[in-house]
Parts: sequence; C-alpha cells; structure tokens
Amino acid sequence: MIEPIYWLNGRLATSAEAVLPLNDHGLLYGDGVFEGIRFYNQTPFRLKPHLERLELSARALMLSLPYDRHQLEAAVSQVIQAYGAPNGYIRLVVTRGPGSLGLDPTHCERPNLFLIADRVALVTEEKRRIGIELVTTATRRSGPSVLDPRIKSLNYLNNILAKLEARNAGADEALLCNAQGFVTEGTAENIFIARAGTLFTPPVSDGALDGITRGIVLELCEQEGLETKERSLTPYDIHTADECFLCGTGAELLPVRSLDGRPMAYTPGPISKQIQQAFQRLIETETSTRKR
Ligand code: PMP
Repeated sequence: MIEPIYWLNGRLATSAEAVLPLNDHGLLYGDGVFEGIRFYNQTPFRLKPHLERLELSARALMLSLPYDRHQLEAAVSQVIQAYGAPNGYIRLVVTRGPGSLGLDPTHCERPNLFLIADRVALVTEEKRRIGIELVTTATRRSGPSVLDPRIKSLNYLNNILAKLEARNAGADEALLCNAQGFVTEGTAENIFIARAGTLFTPPVSDGALDGITRGIVLELCEQEGLETKERSLTPYDIHTADECFLCGTGAELLPVRSLDGRPMAYTPGPISKQIQQAFQRLIETETSTRKR
C-alpha cells in the first residue's frame, strides 16, 4: 500500500508534521478554497485549468495565494514524484490561516497551503461497470444568491447533506436541483444525459461548478462529432433519458444506472462508451511518457 504524501507551506512533510493550528479559519469556518487534481503516468492532467480555477476561487474570497503559479506547479511535481505510483489524486487546499475567533478574515495572518497525494476510489469497480443509483434530494444546490457554485470553497455542507440523504435512501449518489427545480449536478460531479443521439448537460448558470471534466467531455464530443446541448434539465429529462453519466476529477466518467428508481434505457450506453474511450485516449496522449 502506497502511503499518502503531504506537502505543507513549501516543503514535503510527514503526517505528524503536516498539521494546522486549531484556530485556522479553514477549520473554524470552512474559509478557504481547494482543487482536486489527477495525475496519470506521473504527469498532472489538465493542471493549468485547475490552477486557474483555484486562483479565481481565491480572488472571489479575497484570499491571496501564498505561492505563484510556478511554485504551485513545482509543488505538484514534487508530491507526484514523492508518491511514486504512476497514477493518483492530489488535493490542493488553501485555508484562510490562523486568526482570532470571529468570522472576520482580515484578522488572519497568512493562508496555509497544503497538498495531499493519495489514491481516491469513490465507488467500487463493480459500480463503475454496472452504473450507480442516483436519487433526487430535497437538499437544493445553493445558487449565486447564496454562494456562487463556481467558487470551489471548503464549504461543502450543502453537498454533504445531499450525500447523506442519498445514502439514507440506499442510493449511491445525490442529484441536486436548484431552488427552481432544475438539475444542477451530483455532490462532486457534473451530469450528462444522452437522448436520441444528442448529449445534454445543464448550463453552469443553473448552479453547477464549472467542472474541468465537464469541459473535457464537451471538447471530446465535438471531436467525436457528437451533438451537445447545454440546456436546463429537470429530473423528468433524466428519468426518460437513454443514457446518463456523471463526470469529475475524482469520479472520472461514471455511468448512472437509475434516478429515483427509474432505470436508464442503457447503462453504459453506446455514447457513454464512446466518450469513455475517447477520454482514456486523451489521458494517454496528454500524459504518456513519450509526450513528456
Ligand atoms: N461539482 C462539484 C460540486 C465538485 O466538487 C466537482 C469536483 N471538483 C465537480 C463538479 C467536478 O469538477 P471537476 O471536473 O473540475 O473535477
């Protein structure tokens, strides 16, 4: 079993050394931002958009990152190398840093930034093959009037409550709608459906994270000559879809077998399989040793 690797504020650290003060506002108030990044063949996958999104999330919170782009790239390389395995997942977190009690972030001295390299397996291999079961939850995705979903912050309680609802209902994952009842996303994945040969995904403005994997899927569909439409969806559209899958850095591409007990026509269907294969080819092309 490969051990996780930790990097804290400029250097690799053992798990005993990689600790934060209890008065860090990241811990006290969920005040901070993060990214989840995969690496394949010891090469980070689509690192640039992840770092760009991190910078935007931090700007939205008036949180100044303690390291620049090049330093973060170097930190990512360092943890990948130290981890040793060809493939894995990196969690990059920036907290507001230690400060006095009370929400006011202007009292915080300096953000803490850490990385963890480890493996991540959100579902079993069997579920990955046969598809997961989704339920629509009573918990809604907060919209921009509450907390803009494009900010990838440490505030995931909304998603965690939805996940608990799904688990309590015996399902694998939650489908969150916005306050108007339109589909947004899963707890940590964007959603696509296929119907009569066309792929549909809700526009980010309906209340989803602007997922990097979502962007890749749209890119692959174009290359594969598959028609895509960004259109508002309701659970009805998913109940009556031919195919459905979730996508995200952690989840990669994950077939959905049913929503609220209504099975998809095909799991995984031909379009999902085609995109899955194109996704694998893209990873190989962008991360194989020949290309480095
Ligand atoms: N939505 C949410 C709420 C997420 O946390 C994630 C995971 N980062 C995603 C979607 C998928 O985004 P990405 O493809 O950029 O990992």
